[in-house]
Amino acid sequence: MVDLTLKAGREKSLLRRHPWIFSGAIDHLSGSPSLGETVQILSSRGEFLGWAAYNPNSQITARVWSFEDETVDAGFFQNRIKNAILARQQLNLFQPNEQTSPGPACRLIHAESDGLPGLVVDQYADCLVVQFLSAGADLWKETIVDLLVEMTGIPHIYERSDVDVRTLEGLPSVNAPLRGSPKASVLLSENGITFSVDIVQGHKTGFYLDQRVNRSILRKYARDRDVLDCFCYTGGFTLNAFKGRAKSVLAMDASKEALDRVNENLKLNDLSTHGVETLTGNVFIELRKMRDSGHSFDLIILDPPKFAQTKAQVERAARGYKDINLLAFKLLRPGGILFTFSCSGGVSPDLFQKIVAGAALDAGVDAQVIEILAQAPDHPVALNFPEGAYLKGLVCRIN
Ligand code: SAH
Repeated sequence: MVDLTLKAGREKSLLRRHPWIFSGAIDHLSGSPSLGETVQILSSRGEFLGWAAYNPNSQITARVWSFEDETVDAGFFQNRIKNAILARQQLNLFQPNEQTSPGPACRLIHAESDGLPGLVVDQYADCLVVQFLSAGADLWKETIVDLLVEMTGIPHIYERSDVDVRTLEGLPSVNAPLRGSPKASVLLSENGITFSVDIVQGHKTGFYLDQRVNRSILRKYARDRDVLDCFCYTGGFTLNAFKGRAKSVLAMDASKEALDRVNENLKLNDLSTHGVETLTGNVFIELRKMRDSGHSFDLIILDPPKFAQTKAQVERAARGYKDINLLAFKLLRPGGILFTFSCSGGVSPDLFQKIVAGAALDAGVDAQVIEILAQAPDHPVALNFPEGAYLKGLVCRIN
């Protein structure tokens, strides 16, 4: 077993149970652990602090599995997975019929916030889509996958470890089945709506489960409104707008494949005869065109991709958020509603509200915040890991 000793004073964050150890905090190692190997973390005075997975390729050189004196083995993972699944069962996320046809969708394991750094598991009906985002999680892959099959009874498991953070960890990109015979296209039910999800080519694990609650909130505001769903992806907000009896929805995304899936999802829910239009385009450009041609809407959704991947990109991201929010405020009719989001972890809720306030000011509208939104409860934020809070949203009303 290898000991990793921290520099003097660098134990403070671990004593607050923050699970990340940066390369600069490390004084020395007693040996040369392999990629992902479990090491014992000691303070400069030799006190035990925890067990962590080691990765010399990453800025986050060790991620803590446990702050207790316990063995990190199959039994450890079984306990953590059991807790995560139990927590989801207690959330009462699903409407009664969602358990059966075509099957519920939820995030079963949310990495650091479930005490499992680097492990993400999403359930889509009878299929699990899994991401191993750290060397530690990757090392335990076979154990974790066996436990998932055993503990959930779900036979099909697909791996979507084809994300940029794997490169930062020095791990190869993987997009492949792991167990059973997962289908590329799966059906799931969310808020009583059926969605078709492409688990092989879709974004992240295929669907943005973190917006579940916010989509159902949108439904309350949609009635009789002309809606513009910007960055609509496969239509999560669009379909909820129709379920809430929107008059019309214009669904816009840069991806033609995403818009094809919007149409497929509308058909699956017998909503294709409603007033839907899809537009393949760049939101930054299309909103300008709409402003110049005098278009207007009663309800606009802005759910862009992560503009800031790192802290250094926050300023540029802020300009992007301000731009689209300003244009959206200009396109809203009096009494109009804006659902606006940021999923950039580096943009705090406070900064985001300031950006949106600046946009309203420059657009010359008088706006109020009427609801404050965040990620759904199956994406919890461990209090010792504030970085887990990434999605923030505001519902604004203009006079
Ligand atoms: N609202 C969606 C998730 C949005 S994800 C849901 O509820 O499921 C972000 C989407 O923005 C992706 O579908 C991506 O294709 C799209 N996108 C990224 N940049 C864009 C741009 N400049 N213009 C239009 N769409 C863009």
